[in-house]
Amino acid sequence: MNFIAVIIFAAIVCSGLLELYLERRQMASVAAHKDRVPAAFAQQLTLEEHRRAADYNIARARLSVAQKSFDTVLALAWLAVFLGPAYRLVAYLVPAGLSRSVAVVLFIAAIGYLLDLPFTIMRTFRLEARFGFNRMTPGTFVVDALKGIALQLALGIPLLYGFFAVERAIPGIWWLVSWAGFMVIMLAMIVIYPTFIAPLFNKFTPMPDTPLKAQIEALLQKCGFESKGLFVMDASKRSTHGNAYFSGLGKAKRIVFFDTLLQKHDEPEILSILAHELGHFKFGHIREKLVESSVLTFVVFAVLAWAFAGGLANAFGLPGDPGLVLVIVMFAMGPFAQLLSPLTNFLSRRAEFQADGFAKGMFGPQPMISALTKLSRDNLATLTPDRLYALFYYSHPPVPERIAHLESA
Ligand SMILES: [Zn+2]
Repeated sequence: MNFIAVIIFAAIVCSGLLELYLERRQMASVAAHKDRVPAAFAQQLTLEEHRRAADYNIARARLSVAQKSFDTVLALAWLAVFLGPAYRLVAYLVPAGLSRSVAVVLFIAAIGYLLDLPFTIMRTFRLEARFGFNRMTPGTFVVDALKGIALQLALGIPLLYGFFAVERAIPGIWWLVSWAGFMVIMLAMIVIYPTFIAPLFNKFTPMPDTPLKAQIEALLQKCGFESKGLFVMDASKRSTHGNAYFSGLGKAKRIVFFDTLLQKHDEPEILSILAHELGHFKFGHIREKLVESSVLTFVVFAVLAWAFAGGLANAFGLPGDPGLVLVIVMFAMGPFAQLLSPLTNFLSRRAEFQADGFAKGMFGPQPMISALTKLSRDNLATLTPDRLYALFYYSHPPVPERIAHLESA
């Protein structure tokens, strides 16, 4: 077997084992602390609530173990066995050229989607339902899935055609052109998403004129935040998990509150949560994230350039159709992306601390602390995660750390 193929197979196996190891650590850490509420939360949390959160986190980890094991085996099986026959089937149906490359990617993505579907269904209708989070009916689930597929095809097919056409037309620097095009599309999507795509899935109602709204507007003005309005999203139609965010760029930013958040929190808490979001804006975290993803996608496109030039498909004994090469790169990149996640999570957690600090500067530590305590209680977040697991998977610092940070001088 080819040396590069051996490295990729080994990386996928190691990455799968690392994922299982991390899930086991997380389960052990949650189970070990299950019977005692951490001292800092003894006032706000009953032992029963704490145990329930532990059960939820362990059940989630179990499902993750099953899904990640399956995905690892699947990636190996595709690369070792099934990509060849899948390609021959597509080649039999679609003549050589751009369309064949696009069809190969779509065919393999469609099978991957179908194989992952049972896990999504189990997560929504077994796990989330068992702990009282799911509000989605099978009808909503099917409609969501169909809309999602239609959207992915509508965006994905032109993108794939564009990508393969550029790869053919501009030898040598095609990958730089593609990367630049990708960045332009990504920026456009940030503007298009809130206005055109998110409303396909949820209803966004302008926030009614209440005393709370007046306070929110005063806060926005104080922070110099220009936006295209305040909206309430009907998140409760799918799940009881609460959240708030703002989306868009420049003057097209809109602030979105999940209805579930507004139902469960009092005014000072809601204002603190908003101040946290505004902290992200004040510290330029959005720009930071854009720079970060432009660097990461640059690396991905450089790898693609190498894979297309270096005959990566040959390493697996496969024909060098660009569609097939793209699929191989996607499977091969997974393990390396995993190794990067501690770094990207580190940057993200640092930003979260800064945003918490901003909210504290506005309203003092107390409303944010009580908002975080409520959020973690209502979302059954674990207060006792494993450190190594958090390093790989937590984009936000664990709540006890955030509260300790808010309480520190
Ligand atoms: Zn944040």
